[in-house]
Amino acid sequence: MSELDPQPPIRVRIAPSPTGDPHVGTAYIGLLNFLYARQRGGKFVLRIEDTDRARFVSDSEQMIFDALRWLDLAWDEGPDVGGPFGPYRQSERTEIYRSHVDLLLVSGHAYRSFETAEELDAMRKSQIAAKLPPRYNGAHRELSASQIAVYEAEGRPAVVRLKVPVEGETAFRDELRGAITFSHNNVDDQVLLKSDGFPTYHLANVVDDHLMQITDVIRAEEWISSTPKHVLLYKAFGWELPRFWHMPLLRNIDKSKISKRKNPVSLIYYRESGFLPQAMLNFLGLMGGGMAQPTEEEIVSKGINIKQGDIFSLPEMLEKFDFKRISLGGPVFDLTKLKWLNGEYLRALPPEQFFQALRATIFSDDYLRRIAPLVQTRIETLAQFGEMTDFFFKDDVMPAPEAFVPKARTLEETLAFAAEQLVLLEATPFTHDELEAALKQIGVDKQWPVKDNFMLLRAILTGKTASPPLLESLIVFGRARALDRMRRFIDTQKRLAATRK
Ligand code: GLU
Repeated sequence: MSELDPQPPIRVRIAPSPTGDPHVGTAYIGLLNFLYARQRGGKFVLRIEDTDRARFVSDSEQMIFDALRWLDLAWDEGPDVGGPFGPYRQSERTEIYRSHVDLLLVSGHAYRSFETAEELDAMRKSQIAAKLPPRYNGAHRELSASQIAVYEAEGRPAVVRLKVPVEGETAFRDELRGAITFSHNNVDDQVLLKSDGFPTYHLANVVDDHLMQITDVIRAEEWISSTPKHVLLYKAFGWELPRFWHMPLLRNIDKSKISKRKNPVSLIYYRESGFLPQAMLNFLGLMGGGMAQPTEEEIVSKGINIKQGDIFSLPEMLEKFDFKRISLGGPVFDLTKLKWLNGEYLRALPPEQFFQALRATIFSDDYLRRIAPLVQTRIETLAQFGEMTDFFFKDDVMPAPEAFVPKARTLEETLAFAAEQLVLLEATPFTHDELEAALKQIGVDKQWPVKDNFMLLRAILTGKTASPPLLESLIVFGRARALDRMRRFIDTQKRLAATRK
């Protein structure tokens, strides 16, 4: 492109995969893309990358929409709002990917490979045994037409792979890091089209970014190692590269990659626990490090508290967030800081708005309407409602061991079983029958009588030994908060047990 060519209008996207609860990382990258587009008069696209059918969760897409709307990060084009480059859901674009794969097969940039799952497994095992990094060994890169005919006649499954050059390297520019180079020795012949006819992330992502005229790919740094494959694909198609911006990953306090074991990561959890969207956005804006901190002079002359430099609204971010300031040190998702910020925002609300915030979340009609029938037959005066249902309205309940350790068990055994319950509930849809079946099964597997099994869960959820019906309560309380309560229970009880030793 010459200097005189007009720059194409800015178009950015987020491309979440509907594999579960909407993640704080999606909101973080969403915010950055939103700011980038809005600051430059560009378009912000939402694309749903749902080609991994094994990990697909059906209501996840709607939860992504709801969570982004909660945060006020409006997209210009997407599956629900349409736009000139649709469809915006990858499962509706499979023909597009197949025709693009055909182009690569014809031009020799891709090839079909016919190994069975067992053969690939054996390949991987022998490489690991030889202390080599596991990767495809290239055996089918140059199959003859007759060999292909034989494999086809055998009815072998075929995948299409990218033919990564054997020698040399691929370089690209990351806008935050400068040049990044990968030797082709370290780039696998990536599968582009799976044997079920669905594309892999790499193929679909590149084809769509090109067809949707994305100018800037702003995503998390975990995708850097995939980028050489993407660059090779752009080159194979003869397409111009977008700019790449790889944002520093959110981290737990201990600097490991953010994970649900150490922090709630579901946006649903934050919404249902009474975090304000403004506070969450502000907090995520801090993570990028793109906002200038107040200068020494401002701190002195305006008398501002250093922490107040951390408080800014979305309009202020639109005005001042500077992508050049983004620092690559891993931003820490510090819940204590988020709570502090949320408290600042709550205190700043006019009383009527504070009241409305309560009525919209923890005391919403909907929530109360679902709780009421659980206690109607169990109370004698309406005032007993509070005592019977307090756990629905608390941030935390922490039962003493007497309330949850069965007579025949130790505290350690009980906590180990609670951890099993947690893993199970993470994987179980929150319906009465499915929860009941799953809990019964784990009771049989681990030889925990139903009574002890439910008593433990009741204590974790309610803090007490008696409660309204347990599974119904769990469902009304909600999956995101319930799983967080279980994780906090296990962590805290382990910590307490260690200090008692
Ligand atoms: N589908 C990928 C994800 O779930 C998108 C990554 C990208 O932005 O390229 O994060």
